[in-house]
Amino acid sequence: MTDVPYEEWRARAAGLVPHTGHHVDGEFTGTGSTPVSSPRDGKTIAHIASAGRSEVDAAVAAARRAFDTGPWPRLAPAERKAALLRWAGLIERDRSTIALLISLEMGKPISEALGIELRAVINCIRWYAEAADKQLDESPRTGGSSLALVTREPVGVVAAVVPWNFPLTMAAWKIAPALAAGCTAVLKPAEESPLSALHLAALSAEAGLPPGVFNVVNGPGEVAGRALGEHPSVDVLAFTGSTEVGRHFLRYAADSNLKRVWLELGGKSPNIILPDAPDLDAAADTAAWGIFFNAGEMCTAPSRLLVHRSIASRVVDRVVARAEALRTGDPLDPSTEMGPLVSLPHHARVMSHIQAAKSDGARLRTGATVDGRHIAPTVFDQVKPGMRIARDEVFGPVLAVLEFDGVDEAITLANDTDYGLAAAVWTSDLSTAHRVSRSLRAGTVWVNCYEEGDMSVPFGGVKQSGHGRDKSLHALDKYTDLKTTWIEL
Ligand code: NAD
Repeated sequence: MTDVPYEEWRARAAGLVPHTGHHVDGEFTGTGSTPVSSPRDGKTIAHIASAGRSEVDAAVAAARRAFDTGPWPRLAPAERKAALLRWAGLIERDRSTIALLISLEMGKPISEALGIELRAVINCIRWYAEAADKQLDESPRTGGSSLALVTREPVGVVAAVVPWNFPLTMAAWKIAPALAAGCTAVLKPAEESPLSALHLAALSAEAGLPPGVFNVVNGPGEVAGRALGEHPSVDVLAFTGSTEVGRHFLRYAADSNLKRVWLELGGKSPNIILPDAPDLDAAADTAAWGIFFNAGEMCTAPSRLLVHRSIASRVVDRVVARAEALRTGDPLDPSTEMGPLVSLPHHARVMSHIQAAKSDGARLRTGATVDGRHIAPTVFDQVKPGMRIARDEVFGPVLAVLEFDGVDEAITLANDTDYGLAAAVWTSDLSTAHRVSRSLRAGTVWVNCYEEGDMSVPFGGVKQSGHGRDKSLHALDKYTDLKTTWIEL
């Protein structure tokens, strides 16, 4: 939450002067010509520079130089830790400004930008900073006449291409472990949310990260994202975004230097509520919170509620009541719980999913109304597995409710998707909890909760939700190579 009143946030927004260039080699370059508009009201909040191939080349060259000849990979890990901690401290100092930039550029309620996203970003950078000097290499026992060293070497230049829904958290999950491991990085934010990333870049220079260690280029995905994906000097491409664009990155890698590609993609996560849930009201409230949080613009959103027929009407009535009680409004108003959708094209996409649900025969229980740039929290029940609303990722505040009669049927329904990012089951029975969670094909399964997590646990998907893991010590594997040095004594 925030103690700063609505008026004050609006005044601060009016006085903001965001960075607008690319951040390359520790400096801002390029002139701002591409408008960035706020989903609050459609007004232009800045003009930013937009990268073509040559600007991307310059950013990658800076990262390459910083890796090949600069100090960063050669520093003692404790020195990298100190620099990253300074960076996190500056982000904390500027957290209100950065939260405001996020709220303005992508419509997240200010209280969540501040209380959830900024906290997550600062925590993530500190966590990997602290991990930097606590990694050990190996020396296997190969016999008396030899010494084998197995060391973790930074992979080199990491490019990160990220979406707008959690613009800095998604970036931090990649950049923090990459830099902690000794890599250098180029970040390309989404077109909708470049301003918060540029502020982070400015603070990296102020924190004393050497030039070229952290670069930011902005531009359209098909141009700047693609140029990074195809770049021969990028060693690893870490992507979060849609499954469709994830496929492109695998092609770019295949057609260029076979760079490693890590993919965090879309989802259509099932949330199974069984009649023996420890608290049915809590299960219903969490189901509603989960799908409407961040206006449903969540890769892990529990967008398919699978509820046992015997309790369906009680649970769904409560979800509908929660939906109708949510306060939608201006993201700069601290009392707003749901902001506008990120853009008018995205708004139109979500509305077309709602239209498809109606024409496929799902029953609209609430929502689907449009209020300016918002979409009211929407619930469809009587959804059948073949309907588009049961299969397609909507990425908006739209819940599909499917009913089942037995646990095995619930598992079959839950796994009947191309995605495998997250899932949940609500039950009081320990055996059922284990059996169902083992049977669900998902990177994360929550039992009697949703969206719980910690930096120490990995996050990522299976199937067409991607591969590789963000967060936790396991993420360091993505940005390091094992090197064997064999010494005859
Ligand atoms: P998107 O795939 O359209 O864009 C993501 C990024 O890719 C942006 O920076 C964009 O500029 C870039 N891009 C777009 N087209 C490109 C191309 N042809 N070549 C190279 N780069 C390109 O996704 P979005 O609309 O920004 O975000 C929504 C999607 O992200 C949803 O599918 C959501 O599930 C997914 N997501 C996944 C996770 C996760 O951790 N699994 C987290 C957040 C969002």
